[in-house]
Amino acid sequence: AGMDKDARIFVAGARGLVGSAIVRALKKQGYKNVLAPFRKDLDLSDRAAVDSWYAREKPEYVFVAAAKVGGIMANNTYPASFLYDNLIIQNNVIDGAYKAGVKKLEFLGSSCIYPKHAPQPMKEEHLLTGPLEPTNQPYAIAKIAGIEMVNSYRRQYGMSGISLMPTNLYGPGDNYDLQNSHVLPALIRKFHEAKEAGAANVTVWGTGSPKREFLHADDLAEAAIYLMNTYDDSEIVNVGVGEDVSIKELAEIVKKVVGFQGELVFDTSKPDGTPRKLLDVSRLSKLGWKAKISLEEGIRSTYETYKETLKG
Ligand code: GDP
Repeated sequence: AGMDKDARIFVAGARGLVGSAIVRALKKQGYKNVLAPFRKDLDLSDRAAVDSWYAREKPEYVFVAAAKVGGIMANNTYPASFLYDNLIIQNNVIDGAYKAGVKKLEFLGSSCIYPKHAPQPMKEEHLLTGPLEPTNQPYAIAKIAGIEMVNSYRRQYGMSGISLMPTNLYGPGDNYDLQNSHVLPALIRKFHEAKEAGAANVTVWGTGSPKREFLHADDLAEAAIYLMNTYDDSEIVNVGVGEDVSIKELAEIVKKVVGFQGELVFDTSKPDGTPRKLLDVSRLSKLGWKAKISLEEGIRSTYETYKETLKG
């Protein structure tokens, strides 16, 4: 039994890349009662506020898309915040959902929960089989705690909760801060500004050899709704596209989409992070879902949205 079109659906983190995509997709699919408070209306780190919000709004389904996220530098610079903020948000939203008696909850994790040297592509059963990538270990451990929480609430309380592990995401509404963002929005901005300035080159962090997989947030949102409606099990589910590119290849695609004519320069004083993190998506395919947006097409539309936001 899936969500009725008039079910009360709470999207926690409605302003973020993932949450805003889920809200858009729910509305597009005809869901009429999407509850999508922004931070100014509901501070998810405030337990009392979360509890009274649940009591007042009575959501039946919860998407936990709220998280403190950031790229490799942000994770390295603010480890305490990445651990604390994520733990407190997910504790409040998940335990609050249980106390409020929701019908079902979906927790969004991350591919960085897998060990740094997990075999590629990474399968769901590789969770907790080895040491994590140190640059984002605090974030990863918070997310692992979230998975365990959802499964423990299922075991102890019979709460219906599922966990999805999306790969690296991108799309409209991403963070374009040059220091703290993820690689794709950073490259879009760098290439765009270099083109505008007529610069000779663009600096790419690291060696360019790490490989990453990228999923458009709109694809993730479709998967998130699909699994909320069809899946109910403690096994986590990877959500990705099943193929990856090197950072150098990624930079070449962004360069082409933006139309920058200069050269790429690699700054090897910056960290590479984990060498590769490709998700095995065979469980997801068996469940009947597949990503639709190709990387180049997704980067094109994201670049268009980025230019729109620059116009203000
Ligand atoms: P990660 O997937 O957790 O490692 O996070 P990121 O998206 O921040 O970085 C992915 C890879 O892209 C790393 O190897 C970075 O060194 C590399 N990279 C290259 N240029 C940039 C950039 O301008 N910003 C960021 N964040 N990463 C970059």
